[in-house]
Amino acid sequence: MAKHQFQTEIGQLLQLMTHSLYSNKEIFIRELISNASDALDKFNYLRLTDEKFKESDWKGEINIKLDEADNSIAFNDNGIGMNEQDLMDNLGTIAKSGTKAFMEQLTGDSKKDSHLIGQFGVGFYSVFMVAERVDVITKKVGEDQAYMFSTDGSGEYELKPVVKDEHGTVIYIKLKEDEKEFLGKWHVESIVKKYSNHIAYPIILNYTTEETEGEGDDKVTKKVKKSEQINEATALWTLPKSELSKEDYIEFYKTISHGDDEPLTYLHNHVEGANEYTTLFYIPKTAPMDMYRADYQPGVKLYVKRVFITDDEKEMLPPYLRFVRGVIDSEDLPLNVSREILQENRILANIKQGAVKRILGAIKKLKGEDFDRFVDQYNRVIKEGIYTDHTNKETLLEIVRYKSSTEEGLVSLDDYISRGNSEKKEIYYIVGADEKVLRHSPLLEAYKKANIEVLILDDEEVDSIVTPMIGQYKEWTLKDITTIDAPDSKTEEEKEEISKEFKPLTDKIKEVLGDEVKEVKTSTRLTDSPSCVLKDSEDPMAGMAAMFAQMGQEMPEIPLILEINPEHEMIKKLDGLDDKNLFETIAWILLDSAKLSEGLEPKDKTAFSNRIATLAAKAL
Ligand code: ADP
Repeated sequence: MAKHQFQTEIGQLLQLMTHSLYSNKEIFIRELISNASDALDKFNYLRLTDEKFKESDWKGEINIKLDEADNSIAFNDNGIGMNEQDLMDNLGTIAKSGTKAFMEQLTGDSKKDSHLIGQFGVGFYSVFMVAERVDVITKKVGEDQAYMFSTDGSGEYELKPVVKDEHGTVIYIKLKEDEKEFLGKWHVESIVKKYSNHIAYPIILNYTTEETEGEGDDKVTKKVKKSEQINEATALWTLPKSELSKEDYIEFYKTISHGDDEPLTYLHNHVEGANEYTTLFYIPKTAPMDMYRADYQPGVKLYVKRVFITDDEKEMLPPYLRFVRGVIDSEDLPLNVSREILQENRILANIKQGAVKRILGAIKKLKGEDFDRFVDQYNRVIKEGIYTDHTNKETLLEIVRYKSSTEEGLVSLDDYISRGNSEKKEIYYIVGADEKVLRHSPLLEAYKKANIEVLILDDEEVDSIVTPMIGQYKEWTLKDITTIDAPDSKTEEEKEEISKEFKPLTDKIKEVLGDEVKEVKTSTRLTDSPSCVLKDSEDPMAGMAAMFAQMGQEMPEIPLILEINPEHEMIKKLDGLDDKNLFETIAWILLDSAKLSEGLEPKDKTAFSNRIATLAAKAL
């Protein structure tokens, strides 16, 4: 018998399971059934695609045995099984980055935390919420030797060869003294129904009950062994819609999502024609934890004629729909379809195309609170879609929502259009990292005055990349207000004239500020403020800055352009100012305060406040 040490992270996880996460213990049943079902799926696939494993009379089954006398519960499946190496790899270490992510997400609220267990693929270890000891007795299909893996949930486990006839796995759980509720037939049955009713294999509950026979003095009580199938064991999506209730759909969602939340919406379609397939998709109420991780777990399982093929294929839907959960079941794909084939398969491409259309359709149909919830959770990935999915760009632009300078809450582009100036057909927006700064930007002044709505895009990382490439929506052109003239601005000739008139002044300011700004010029965008700064949009780095940020790198510095408002009192007076020192002070203040309004910092903060003090003293 060989003793092994658990990987450190598992040690921590076990600690957590035994000592903190006990508010929702029953989910260990769901997790073990889910593992057993996966093991059955894997074997089923093998026997159908590989001559070596052909087993014509095999019927996948999950048996649960309750043993009161022994204070134990056991889960038995005739699935693929594990060999010695599998046991060490799958149960002794955590190969996926799952556990680390799991530990990072923990809130300390055990109720919330227990919902995370299923999502992070740490399901097996949930048995330690109820187990004093666990033995995993397992034999891998096609191999001769069976093994037993035993642990009491402390830092070590033992591995030894044992005898077992059939391939598959038994998880034997010696319950803790105070966990006897998991020996009750009704209790276990109701848990299975709650979470696993639509697992596609029969789940059989084996238990002992007392029965009395005879009358009066002849009355004898006997212990009788009983077996009963307790789940529906149908692949829910194969049933016609007309036979399914909302409750059925929600129940199935709980099974596949490892949670007990209801979905925001679901859609079930059977498609016939060039290709025949069924899809059942769910949109979760809460975005999956790993939505922004590169190693996110895809949420859609692929079946071919009801045989499970994979749940690890990210290409089933476009990446921006990675929050969708559900099933695709194709009648036309070959069973032994490889990953390479999947990726360029015409049938799958076809299914995918139809699926995306239907999912977006369902999103558009969401109403009121449900739609708001959707936007709250998924607006950002929808923007990702706008950038990547050209076929459905128009629909995605109908769904996406933005903040607005004139309206409360969030608005759609259609809302904007319905209020906007239909002669010009322009949709104005401004992008930045801080909503408050954007709302107070001097660049908005002219729009406020002219009562023109501007969209406030404060998810800079995404918006600064996505929005410029939108171009048009329903013949309206999107315009970044930092790159265009303000509304009601002067004609080109007038602008020329003003620029000429103020040239001596702008040159003088540039001389004072030196390399701090690329250019100083008269502005056509300002009404109340004396000055504003803009990033030089012609600088080759400007378009790439946000991309740098997204890759976690420092943004390269983009040169600034200082614009001054020729109509402002301060600028007019500055033009005729002789006091050289005072001129310099004010030139710097024009730059630094404009920077502050855009959420940027003055280069020298002490100098800035000294200058303000100088000015204040003069004014007094
Ligand atoms: P997950 O199921 O999310 O991968 P678990 O911790 O529940 O995470 O299980 C770890 C791994 O152990 C599984 O991925 C699987 O490879 C293996 N495993 C667990 N239970 C069984 C079983 N009944 N039969 C075969 N393999 C199993």
